[in-house]
Amino acid sequence: MKCALITGGSRGIGRAVCIKMAELGYHVLINYKGNEAAAQETLEAVKNAGSTGELLQFNVGEAEEVKQVLGTWIESHKDDQIEVLVNNAGIREDGLMFMMSEGQWNNVLNISLNGFYHVTKQVLSSMLMKRYGRIINMVSLSGIKGLAGQTNYSAAKAGVIGATKALAQEIAKRGVTVNAVAPGFIKTDMTAELNEKELAAQVPMNRFGTAEEVAEAVAFFASKGAGYITGEVLSINGGLYT
Ligand code: NAP
Repeated sequence: MKCALITGGSRGIGRAVCIKMAELGYHVLINYKGNEAAAQETLEAVKNAGSTGELLQFNVGEAEEVKQVLGTWIESHKDDQIEVLVNNAGIREDGLMFMMSEGQWNNVLNISLNGFYHVTKQVLSSMLMKRYGRIINMVSLSGIKGLAGQTNYSAAKAGVIGATKALAQEIAKRGVTVNAVAPGFIKTDMTAELNEKELAAQVPMNRFGTAEEVAEAVAFFASKGAGYITGEVLSINGGLYT
C-alpha cells in the first residue's frame, strides 16, 4: 500500500490535502489531535474520493505519543510505505510579545517545530531506505515576513523553513524531497475570528484563499514530476508578498 500521512488532517487545509491525496490514489493516514468527529468526516470524504484511509490520533508535539502511535503503525505495516508526509498540524496563540506567556510561546513552537521533528523522525528511515519520499511542510507568510502579534508563530514557521532547507540538502541524494508551502490568509477555523473583509482588502486578489487551493500546491510537491525540486518554499497568498 502506498500511503500519505497528513498531520492535522481532520479539518481545514489538512482535510483538503487528505482529499487531494485520495484523488491521487494514496491510502490516507489522517492524523488529528482530539476532534474525532471531524476526522471521521475527512475519512468519509477520502472514501468518497475513491480511496481508502484510516485515523491516527496523536499530538504531534508529544514525542512519546508520536512514537507509540505512529511508530507502532510503521512497525506493524512493514509492507506499506509512507511515500508522502505532510507536516500540516499547527496552532496559533497570538499576542504581543511583552504580554506573551511562556505557555503561548512554548505551545506554538512545540506543535509546529517539535512536531515537525517528532513526526519526520519516525517516517524518514523508511523513505531513505526505499530511496523515495516527499516531505511537505506547512509554513506561513508569517514565517517569511514576520507578523506583529505573532512572534511565537513567526518563529515557529521560520524554524520549519530552516529545517526544510537543511533536511532537503541532507537527503537529496536519496531521492527524498523536502519542500514547504507558505499560505497567506486561508479560510479555515484558524482564521474564523479574523476580520475577513478588512484583511482581504490588503490582499491583491481581494479575498482569502481556500484550503483546496493550498492542497493543489501540496499535490504538486507530492507528485513524481516535482522530483528535481527540493528545499523550496512556495507562497500561496493571492499576491500578498513581503
Ligand atoms: P485549523 O483549521 O485550525 O486545523 C488545525 C488542524 O491541526 C486540525 O486538524 C487539528 O486537529 C490539528 N492539530 C492541532 N494541533 C495538533 C496537534 N498538537 N497534534 C496533531 N494535530 C493537531 O488550521 P488550518 O488553517 O487548516 O491550518 C493548517 C496549517 O496551515 C497550520 O500549520 C497553519 O499554521 C498553517 N497555515 C494556515 C493559514 C490559514 O490562514 N488558515 C495560513 C498560513 C499557514 P483537531 O481537529 O483534532 O483539533
